[in-house]
Amino acid sequence: MSSAEREQLTERLLEITRNLGAALELGPFLHKMLSAARELTASETVSILELDETSGQFRFAATLWGQRDALHGMKVPLEGSAAGQVFAQRKPLRISNLTTDSRQFSALEFASAFETRTLLGVPLLSRGQALGVLEAVNKANNVHYTEEDITILETLAAPAALAIHNDALRRRIDASYTELAELDRLKNDFIAITSHELRTPLGLILGHATFLRELLSEENRAQLDVIIKNASKLKEIIESLSNVDNFQTGGARLRQRSVSGRRIIEEVVAAFAEEAARRRISLQAAAGDDLMVEADPSKIAIALSNLVKNALTFTDDGGKILITGLSVPGYIQVSVADNGIGIPARDVPRVFERFFQVESHLTRRHGGMGLGLAVAKVMVEMHGGRIWAESTEGQGSIFTFLLPVSLPQADTASTPTTP
Ligand code: ADP
Repeated sequence: MSSAEREQLTERLLEITRNLGAALELGPFLHKMLSAARELTASETVSILELDETSGQFRFAATLWGQRDALHGMKVPLEGSAAGQVFAQRKPLRISNLTTDSRQFSALEFASAFETRTLLGVPLLSRGQALGVLEAVNKANNVHYTEEDITILETLAAPAALAIHNDALRRRIDASYTELAELDRLKNDFIAITSHELRTPLGLILGHATFLRELLSEENRAQLDVIIKNASKLKEIIESLSNVDNFQTGGARLRQRSVSGRRIIEEVVAAFAEEAARRRISLQAAAGDDLMVEADPSKIAIALSNLVKNALTFTDDGGKILITGLSVPGYIQVSVADNGIGIPARDVPRVFERFFQVESHLTRRHGGMGLGLAVAKVMVEMHGGRIWAESTEGQGSIFTFLLPVSLPQADTASTPTTP
């Protein structure tokens, strides 16, 4: 090959590899690459054999051979094949007269009555690991494959190996996503079934304990109060689980009417006033006008109560909690600010996830199941609103939610993004 020819070939190879288009799907990508390999090496056909790890044999990942369908599902053993030798030695292999070399079979001969006269195979290497073999057969005019042909195939084999490697990774990621989605479905089913099944016996325990309490003398009531208090706690947990589950399965319904946001805030403050006073925490509300909003008041009260409950839990005695209610165009905005322990920046985006808690459950000092904020989020989003948290560790947190003043549609639940 003259130097001018070599220069021309290098340019052509560069142009081809540049235009291979890494963004293409694997199939069209390999096909484009094989067409270039066939053209530049003047071969009758070119194929890619990929190692199938399950069977330990090669399969045709791509081929330009006309009877491609006959190769579908075909396996080529490593033992005794030219491709197997290239693969094992990770070196190019050139065979000039295959018809007289009975020890070397081309992959196509395994698959059909194809007659192979000359063959060139190069390994497909990705990060030093052999993935398969790029094999060209029957150079035109019955001449032998040259050193240039080896360079051409090796140059084209590199992007092909990378594409095959990336495709395998993508398939593995897809499989992991499917597995995760299945696990998530199982978890959701488990939560839905368990909370449903626990509700009835718990209702009976509470009902009978309350009935018995009335029959007992004053001094024995304390025992039953413990049962009732703890059964009520369990009931609350189960309600929280079902609230989130109902929302996710679309079973939750709103009973909205025109309500005063200010009134809800005042009622929630009143509900926690005693606990706040006992712990010398200043619990104040600053709500403008009436803050009228189309909403289901019981659900908004649950959301706000959960935020205030957390503010109390995570604020030291003597601290401060301020609830603010504002009217902003089209919305009412409610915030609960505390000067408590705050949340590490990396955890802030996760606090609304079900079962998420900043402290590990083994070392945590506070009770709870990591459901309060998930429930609050569900309640707010059912109204077409959104909720978010801002926090500085060691200084305090602000939880804010926005509710549209009027619901676009009854019973709808949208999931807007938080800022
Ligand atoms: P839990 O009922 O277990 O407290 P939540 O869903 O209500 O669960 O809250 C999740 C986690 O977010 C809490 O365990 C806590 O680590 C953190 N968190 C919530 N509110 C506050 C707050 N006001 N200050 C500091 N941390 C908070």
